[in-house]
Amino acid sequence: MRVLLVEDEREMAAWLERALAQSGFVPEHAHDAATAERMLSEARYDVVIMDLRLPDKHGLVLLREMRNRGDITPVLILTAQGGLQDRVRGLNLGADDFLSKPFALEELEARLAALVRRSRGRPAPRMQCGSLVYDTESKAFSIEGVLLHLTPREHAALAVLVTRSGVPVEKNQLFSRVFDHDSDASIDAIEVVLHRLRKKLTGSDVRIVTVRGLGYMLESTSEPI
Ligand code: CA
Repeated sequence: MRVLLVEDEREMAAWLERALAQSGFVPEHAHDAATAERMLSEARYDVVIMDLRLPDKHGLVLLREMRNRGDITPVLILTAQGGLQDRVRGLNLGADDFLSKPFALEELEARLAALVRRSRGRPAPRMQCGSLVYDTESKAFSIEGVLLHLTPREHAALAVLVTRSGVPVEKNQLFSRVFDHDSDASIDAIEVVLHRLRKKLTGSDVRIVTVRGLGYMLESTSEPI
């Protein structure tokens, strides 16, 4: 089992690497977020252990970017004791499990094994918000089983929004995911895309709301978030 350990505290990382190797895992260590990103782009890991306080980027930002890229590698987050807020934010961003420091090695190993078991048995994820379903394998959107016909830009925007449903997505972040880097479109072009998407969602229980100062959010009107 290949484990990517993202941890900047060298003593902690060295101890964990040794211990995990002794327990039959194959750990690899990244001491900051940039290194972790490079390693994730070059190799497949069964599970990621992620510290939150990294020198170059917060662990939750790293996690969010992984999930936005469609990387579904299970992530176990190491939090400070009592880090309830980090847990809530982490869950919203797609973390799979948490462990508070300090922890017993046996507990870490048991959780890693459970995460890997769970992820191996799981089919390609279907993301859902209300009756809107995104099949991440076929890349198709449907509402109550009826396929939605979307332009590539509408598709890109809705894919970002459904990945983070219930959480606002910043306008410039949405823009950069929908328009090419070399596009000369202005950032307001995203509003045209969203306007058309909203029309296509009319009549369903899903809507795109504007959250003042924060961006846009996909939400279901039929279920509490
Ligand atoms: Ca740290």
